[in-house]
Amino acid sequence: MSLKRKMVIKFAKWVSSTSQKIRGGQGVTLPGYIARKLNPSILTSLSSDVRKKTFVVLGTNGKTTTNSILYHALTAEGQKVIINKTGSNMMNGVVSSFVLATDKNGELDADYACIEVDEIASLTVLPKIKPDYLVLTNISRDQLDRFGEVDITFQKLKEAINKTPKMTLLINGDDVLSYTLAKESKHDFITYGINEQIFDSTSRSEIRESIFCRKCGHKLEYNFFHYGQLGDYHCPHCGLTRPEAAYAASNIHLSESGSTFDVGDRSFTTGAKAPYNIYNTLAAYAALRIAGLEAPHFENMIAHYDYGNNRESVFNIGGTNIQIHLAKNPIGFQQKISLVLKDPNPKDVMILINDEYQDGEDVSWLWDVDFQYLADANANSIIATGKRGYDMRLRLKYEDIPCEVSLDLENTIRDCIENRTDNLYLIVNYTGLYSTNALLKNLSNDYAGKED
Ligand SMILES: [Zn+2]
Repeated sequence: MSLKRKMVIKFAKWVSSTSQKIRGGQGVTLPGYIARKLNPSILTSLSSDVRKKTFVVLGTNGKTTTNSILYHALTAEGQKVIINKTGSNMMNGVVSSFVLATDKNGELDADYACIEVDEIASLTVLPKIKPDYLVLTNISRDQLDRFGEVDITFQKLKEAINKTPKMTLLINGDDVLSYTLAKESKHDFITYGINEQIFDSTSRSEIRESIFCRKCGHKLEYNFFHYGQLGDYHCPHCGLTRPEAAYAASNIHLSESGSTFDVGDRSFTTGAKAPYNIYNTLAAYAALRIAGLEAPHFENMIAHYDYGNNRESVFNIGGTNIQIHLAKNPIGFQQKISLVLKDPNPKDVMILINDEYQDGEDVSWLWDVDFQYLADANANSIIATGKRGYDMRLRLKYEDIPCEVSLDLENTIRDCIENRTDNLYLIVNYTGLYSTNALLKNLSNDYAGKED
């Protein structure tokens, strides 16, 4: 190892620990920024030290969960694994993850790396990491103003993937966009998918960004939809047809406590209550298998895996059950509405919409969500909040669904705890997640104190 690399890593780590002392945590991307400025090839250098294989997980929805399952599965097999944490999936965050994983001599001790990469960063990150396997979860509409329409995302990903040296793609064959991208790329690819129709009508509501064949422009026909544009499709004009999945989930049973399903001759019992987490689990399992791992501990690992990831937390505060759910794009939102509808009990629903950069500054995507189902949610009240709470109320007004607006989150939650149904759903977009979680933790301590 060159002295220069060692010094760069040492300096970046020193800055990281100093900035944590001064600013109290955060700053996950700073060491990456510094290391990259001092040594532009640092990422290639560090990632090439991974002893066995490097996985990159890309896609609009599900990449954090898929990557996390992959990480836990590899760890369960006794492997040493590097993973980048949530929120550090752009260039500097990825570099930071590698830098901070080194030992005091600046050496990396890792069998595998599992790296989640943001679509917008893929063009710069992928060619530097040179992954062995790329898992593509799906391509759908997300954060409109950052990526433009789904076509732009498609082109960006295609360019990123084609600029990267030979690797094997693992793609969701139920997504016509992912499948088309894989076919048009220079890489070999393997598919996973769900062969049977299992999802209910609310969650597979009408969000189909891409129902036209990208090859010939004709309208695709579907035997069935799962959700979004995922399903069993074919083009009546040019013959493009959903590929038979090499790794297929079958015998799927969803219940209150989770789900069971089979992949080949293996059976999994999981805590996944939301259908999309079946895809995420399937993707991670298939990734292990194509990398040549038998993964004998997968059943046990996944039976205990917590799908929450801090994105779906449940609190009980002052006798009120409070669930917080992250939804950052139309498909994610539709899934959460479906979840709310599955609970027949009276409830209050709060929807928090912010418009920070990470959320997407354009909130027109609210018009792509079928909110009319909320009329049947047995909701005592629906409350819009966040910087774009008024946009949210306007959206519901068009569905004739009464909605309050409150910009005082804490007092509104207190009011729900003390005066409403004892059953509160909080659906928040990205930048609202951590602050709302923190607020609920404080309230939780506060109310616990009152009971003493
Ligand atoms: Zn066609």
